[in-house]
Amino acid sequence: MISVSEAIRIILEQSKPLPTERAPLASTLRRILAEEIVADSDLPPFDRAQMDGYALRSSDLANLPTRLRLVGESAAGRGWHGVVKEGEAVRIMTGAPVPVGADSVQKVEVTREEDEVVFVKEATQPGQFIVPRASEIRRGEKVLLPGEEINAAMMAVLASFGYAEVLVSRRPRVAVLATGTELVKVNEKPGADQIRDSNTYSLASYAQLAGAFVERLPLAGDDPELLKREIRDAAQRSDVLVLSGGVSMGVYDFTKAALKALGAEIFFERVSLRPGKPTVFARMGRTLVFGLPGNPVSVSVTFNLFARTALSAMQGCLASALKEEWAVLERNVKGAIERASYLPAQLETDESGRQIARPLKWGGSSDFVAFARATALIIVPEGLRFVEAGTIVRTVRLPG
Ligand code: AMP
Ligand code: MG
Repeated sequence: MISVSEAIRIILEQSKPLPTERAPLASTLRRILAEEIVADSDLPPFDRAQMDGYALRSSDLANLPTRLRLVGESAAGRGWHGVVKEGEAVRIMTGAPVPVGADSVQKVEVTREEDEVVFVKEATQPGQFIVPRASEIRRGEKVLLPGEEINAAMMAVLASFGYAEVLVSRRPRVAVLATGTELVKVNEKPGADQIRDSNTYSLASYAQLAGAFVERLPLAGDDPELLKREIRDAAQRSDVLVLSGGVSMGVYDFTKAALKALGAEIFFERVSLRPGKPTVFARMGRTLVFGLPGNPVSVSVTFNLFARTALSAMQGCLASALKEEWAVLERNVKGAIERASYLPAQLETDESGRQIARPLKWGGSSDFVAFARATALIIVPEGLRFVEAGTIVRTVRLPG
């Protein structure tokens, strides 16, 4: 049995970067950048007015109020390209270029305009209400880096610098396959010994959140031959194959046997983790295979610790998929001697700004209804039977 961190190390070692592709800007939200983004212009591209008012020379305002001659108008998209001379002013709008000669802008509220004359009631400081050219970004500057996940605000950055197409990592193709003779489809009424398959829905959703294209395969039962066929076919058309169920020690747990019969290289098949001990990680050709325990909570925990890490690394994501955060434990929790525990919790911030981890009240590791409210997992290292309220604990966030 290996530790969670050793398992993650092995997974990262096997997670090779996917090829990159150019994608239209509008379709790149949440994808991982594969190129440096470079400013193709200064920002702002010209000295820009920050107020509606008048562009003028501050030295003209020694005696107040002052009369200045109105010689032109500079509007956004339609600047005035003369030179402002002594005793002159140009009417200017927010976002418009400040003409040469003017060193400041006075806001319209402290002026009065009448017949080509502007009366200014308050002095200006040089530079007032002007954002100088290139004061935010210089042309040629790197503004975003490979490995960053594109968010909504970055879309504005990419658009501003003319990236109609963006080089991003190809999305991983994930196939999700559930085993278990007890499973029926969501639109079926389970018989006496049956339950509805829920794992393919949670797994497919987590995989989508991790940036993947997902295929949910038909339920495979606990039929070794069918399982082998489905695994072989699915592995051929996916980068990552996620299997649910059939990895424990039961007589009808065929997943590992199927993988071995297909010649998969098995890297580990047990992790010192609760829930999720019988997790299998293997490779078939270039396809990574995760065999996750079928319990719906175990499936969610192990997908997020292991498969998500692989998907993120394959896309070249810089930020760790498992960023740990500290929090103050709100209630006592139990750990396990022989395994690390990952306990569902809600992370909240109290009035004094401390992050609090509130363990979910739940009926144990099959309580996926309670788990649906979890926003994070509290990590209790192996060997600790008990962690007291008030202790500072490590947590990992679950994706939204
Ligand atoms: P297994 O890992 O196959 O031993 O399954 C462990 C538990 O998870 C059993 O109670 C199964 O019925 C349940 N289970 C397995 N697969 C699924 C699934 N796809 N959806 C919901 N529950 C499942
Ligand atoms: Mg099963």
